[in-house]
Amino acid sequence: MINKVVPELPKVLSIAGSDPSGGAGLQADLKVMAQLGVYGAAAVTALTRQTSEGVQDIYTLDSNWVLTQITEVLYDLRPQVIKTGMLQSPLILQGLAKIWRDYQAVEKEAVLVVDPVLHSGTGVSLLDKGGLKAFREELLPYTTVLTPNVPEAEAFTGMQIKSTEDMEKAARLLLDCGVQWVLIKGGHFQQDRGEIVDILYSSEQIYDFPGERVPAQDPHGTGCTLASALASYLALSYSVPESTARAIKWVRQSIANAIYVGKGRPVVCQQSLQ
Ligand code: PLP
Repeated sequence: MINKVVPELPKVLSIAGSDPSGGAGLQADLKVMAQLGVYGAAAVTALTRQTSEGVQDIYTLDSNWVLTQITEVLYDLRPQVIKTGMLQSPLILQGLAKIWRDYQAVEKEAVLVVDPVLHSGTGVSLLDKGGLKAFREELLPYTTVLTPNVPEAEAFTGMQIKSTEDMEKAARLLLDCGVQWVLIKGGHFQQDRGEIVDILYSSEQIYDFPGERVPAQDPHGTGCTLASALASYLALSYSVPESTARAIKWVRQSIANAIYVGKGRPVVCQQSLQ
């Protein structure tokens, strides 16, 4: 038997919560990575009891156990890209920030994509009290790309976002926290409008990604899918703006292809399922 070692294999480590219904969380992340041709690994932060109808409960894991698991897999696989989703507790956030700083000191080209998951689509909190502060103070200063939706950007900045000018103001506040790139997803505002614009900001550049709103019944898994696609394209060596453009295209197609898998919300989907 011949086992191949692929020297430049693109690898992404997802650090996220488990969604047993497979629509979001680390299950969704791994599917996206497999479809985009990168090697996906996943370290679990929390277990949700969840169906297509919503999150019923969250089982909290021991934070030291979570952090040891992350460290072990990180130094074994040495992925170029790390993508975070539900981090649940300030202790996990603080510990992860330290692990990331140490890792970046040895893997200088590695990048961190942070999807700042605060709530489920049905409104259940996925981040404990004190989590926002820990995000702002511990993780954002080391984040390469942050992907908030409008309610998340509002929670982080304490400002209301009602226009694209507000989006830019919020993005500037997030860049001031030390984030290198902020992608604010416009889907949650101007719900009545036929067009959506997602906007990517760095301290020097702004890229608009306008598109028609895809008619869909609020599918589950959009945030995880977008951040995982972005992380995958970065692992495939595309630039941040190019990875963002490709990831947005990917998620819009996945929304258009959303399917009902259970009694509740549809889930985003890429494959053509016969
Ligand atoms: N469950 C987990 C584990 C998640 O990470 C997320 C979102 O990131 C959700 C649920 C919520 O997904 P949605 O907002 O698409 O319902």
